[in-house]
Amino acid sequence: MEKILGRMILFAAATIVAAQFMVAQVRIRDPKQAIDEGYTKKIREYTTEPFFNSPWTDYLPASATVPTPKAVLGDVAGAPNKLPYSTDVYRYMRMLERATGRVKVVSIGTTEEGREMIAVAVASERLIADLEQNRSRLARLADPRLINMDDAEAERLVAASVPIYYITGSIHAPETGAPTALMELAYRLAVDESPAIQAIRDRLVTLITPMVEVDGRDRQVDVYNWHLAHPGQNWPNLIYWGKYVAHDNNRDAMALTLKLTQNVLKTFIDWKAQVLHDLHESVPYLYDNTIGDEPYNAWLDPILTDEWQMIGWHNVSEMTKLGMPGVFAHGDFDTWSPGYLMFLAATHNGISRLYETFGNAGADTLERTLTPQQYGRTWYRQNPPLPKAKWSQRNNNNYEQTGLLISLDHFAENSKLFLRNFYLKSKRSIDKPKNEGPAAYVFPADDPRPGGQAELLRILQLQGCEVVQAAAPFSVTMRKAKSDKDDKTEKNEKTEKNEKKEPATEAVQFPAGSYLVRMDQPYSRVADMLLDYQYWSPNDPQRRPYDDTAWTFGEFGNVKVVRITDVKVLDAPVRKLQAPLQAPGGIRGQGTVFVVNHNSDNALVTLRYKLRNARMDAAEEPFEFQGVKFNRGSFVIRGVSPGELRPVVSDLGLQAIAASEAPSVVTHPIRAARLAVVHTWLTTQDEGWWRHAIDNASIPFTYISTQAVARDSNLRSKYDVIIFPPAGRNTPQAIVAGMPMWGNALPWKKTPETPNIGNLDSTDDMRPGLSWTGVDNLKNFVQQGGVLLGSMNTSDLAITFGLAPGVSIAPKQKFKATGTALRTKLVDASSPLVYGYTDNLAVYCFECSIYNLSNLANGGGQRPAVEPERTTGRGTKDDPDLPQGRPVVDLPEIPKAEAWEALPLTDEQKRNNTAVIPPEFRPRVVLRYADTKELLVSGLLDGASEIAQHPAVVDVPVDRGHVVLFSNNPMWRGETQGSYFLVYNAILNFDSLNAGRKKSDEAVTPSAGR
Ligand SMILES: [Zn+2]
Repeated sequence: MEKILGRMILFAAATIVAAQFMVAQVRIRDPKQAIDEGYTKKIREYTTEPFFNSPWTDYLPASATVPTPKAVLGDVAGAPNKLPYSTDVYRYMRMLERATGRVKVVSIGTTEEGREMIAVAVASERLIADLEQNRSRLARLADPRLINMDDAEAERLVAASVPIYYITGSIHAPETGAPTALMELAYRLAVDESPAIQAIRDRLVTLITPMVEVDGRDRQVDVYNWHLAHPGQNWPNLIYWGKYVAHDNNRDAMALTLKLTQNVLKTFIDWKAQVLHDLHESVPYLYDNTIGDEPYNAWLDPILTDEWQMIGWHNVSEMTKLGMPGVFAHGDFDTWSPGYLMFLAATHNGISRLYETFGNAGADTLERTLTPQQYGRTWYRQNPPLPKAKWSQRNNNNYEQTGLLISLDHFAENSKLFLRNFYLKSKRSIDKPKNEGPAAYVFPADDPRPGGQAELLRILQLQGCEVVQAAAPFSVTMRKAKSDKDDKTEKNEKTEKNEKKEPATEAVQFPAGSYLVRMDQPYSRVADMLLDYQYWSPNDPQRRPYDDTAWTFGEFGNVKVVRITDVKVLDAPVRKLQAPLQAPGGIRGQGTVFVVNHNSDNALVTLRYKLRNARMDAAEEPFEFQGVKFNRGSFVIRGVSPGELRPVVSDLGLQAIAASEAPSVVTHPIRAARLAVVHTWLTTQDEGWWRHAIDNASIPFTYISTQAVARDSNLRSKYDVIIFPPAGRNTPQAIVAGMPMWGNALPWKKTPETPNIGNLDSTDDMRPGLSWTGVDNLKNFVQQGGVLLGSMNTSDLAITFGLAPGVSIAPKQKFKATGTALRTKLVDASSPLVYGYTDNLAVYCFECSIYNLSNLANGGGQRPAVEPERTTGRGTKDDPDLPQGRPVVDLPEIPKAEAWEALPLTDEQKRNNTAVIPPEFRPRVVLRYADTKELLVSGLLDGASEIAQHPAVVDVPVDRGHVVLFSNNPMWRGETQGSYFLVYNAILNFDSLNAGRKKSDEAVTPSAGR
């Protein structure tokens, strides 16, 4: 290995000579350019090998008036042991702004914790002075309707305009290099007088957000400083990045739930930028995943995917010529999901780009050893990284800046081409109805969930889409919906006549007040992408989807969305709507009793908590009242005045019917439960999405760790409901065990040296897990009447450690669902968990667990996939065998049950068996997965039959309380708003979950329960 390494380095050194030979050709540095000698010396000192730098960045231009990053850092960008806080980075950017007319800093919003986000524009003085006029020209290219789609006018605008190249750094907090690289890049672009840099400055505006995850950056600097202060010790991993989520802050570009995504999108749209180039760190040494791997997102304009190839390969090629090893494109990132931050450009007629450079998660200089997968040569990586090398943050900054400067140079050279493409992509988005279609998406006015509908439409408005409302009823031609019966008649007709039929169509009418998202608008592609269905073939050559394969917003949101191809829809009379769109709410009628329909709109749970002192009851059956039909679970509200109620329901978009008397229907109280949300110290990534949803619904909760659960033997005195959201990919055993206890303690708390951590939760030592005491405490909590709700691996934990008798987990054979939408069926519509739901809800499944039920506490729910066949003997296949020479006896019945049910107990099982679960404590299946044929809604599904019909959501009564198990994840990335209320129902009905439970007719054994 050593020998090979030596040879490779020799080879690399040789290519450096060649690269330097080519410097003149690539016209990088002007020999007349004054150089900052001291800074340049440090760059060379901190770069571990000469070939880890380039002629673009191996010097720093000098300026008599503009301060270098050293003014703030005390050293050069990428220096060892130095990570600046956000305030330092901003201070430097504002120093630049004061020192030169070539830099302008703007505030683009704040984070959840109130930290500022900025964008820094760098260009020539002339372009900086012309920013507003340039913006107004770009706005007309971005929306060609403003120039009546006039190509000649567009050409004039292109000639007069320059593009905006938007670079974003450090969205992933432990990927630490970008802020200093971008400080230095801004300086270079502002002061270097080399022809290449001048050309960049004159031909485009570079826009820089030095860090996207500002909250996470400051925490990461804290943790890194702790590490510097405690040499030789293990240091805590960054358990919290932003307030809510960690790595998934880069999966928010669809639902736009996080401030950082909203701020970057707003900046991208306001500036009418052409590129969004996001900087990450993981793969050695520079993986330009602009191009990516297949499958490509199916809704993009092919012009964009051509631009990816052009830009990506140019980047690789130029850096290869400079002799820098380990620069490549393609890799294993597929561009299917539009959830990544950079994809905001792809979905808004721009160009998305992403770099993975190599980082050490801090500013330590380290000897790094790569795996064969990382250093191997392959067709897309002909010049791979070295198997072993010393790597510094400065190396990282060299690679990042070299790649960016080459990109800016290329974009400046071709600025008119890219502006023309920008116009073309915008124009083709507006032309969508007459080309590939659809013409529009319609959200019918009679959707039973107006609140859910408004939630989804608000997301589209945030995406920059125009939403309009039909001023009158309208009708369109649609393909006839197929039923089984139609299928059969069609088939028969075909065989009889043996001729092809045109697909049957029908006229469909939509009521006035229906919402439309027309596709003849510049951002039609993002609406089409979010609202359409996805199909990922199980036979796709790409075996490892990079992320979710489905996101169909109408399905996950439980909102009716109709895809219309008939262009006549564009003639419907409409009126424009302001953002944010709101469902209408108010009170109808007179009286002191109010009834609100339960339609599973998320605002209903907020209503309960907003009016804490009101008495609210839930109807246990559907009913009719004042001529209106109400669902099971509907709220009957008393003890609040109309004056108090009206503003709340108006604000929440809920309709209340007032009356002098309550409807005559069986009810139970719905109380404002005392809620705790549990997190581990292993990961908080996935539970963050739950906290985000629960915070948005204004439900107060106590946030506790598994360690706090272990310390508290009387959880029931404090909480009614404990929600334990999924804990990443950890096994139940790992959640109990925590981290290994050798080595030093790993503190996560606020101290003078770590002022930015410990605000969400804190501990002296992150290592201990839930422990057996914690499991016991949860069990006691449930036995004393609490409700414990788990999802995915935390449900698995409850099952594995005996908190959910009668439920077991089946091993998987071929089953695969990678972020897929699966259809469910209601099994028990009278359970409070599904109040407000009609059938066929789509749920999010990521390799969800396959549950089996049993009436025995020790499981035993497994059953053969196929019915046993008869053995060899007399008669036909369907006859019984008959032993000879004795009278015939009847065979005992073999117990049978559906896949979501427990098998009935046999007499043998019932006899003297302590494992028999008393009927009132048997698991109650509320939702199950649909049959194999209708299971897949959207995305990738293989081995469907393994999970088809099996339980999805199960309520397990345990003594006086309940354990509620979700095999799916009902709260995911702000995308699954349609399944949130399954969780809220558990909270609202925590002490009445047995409502509507069917009495078992099975003989009851002496019961231990009440
Ligand atoms: Zn990253």
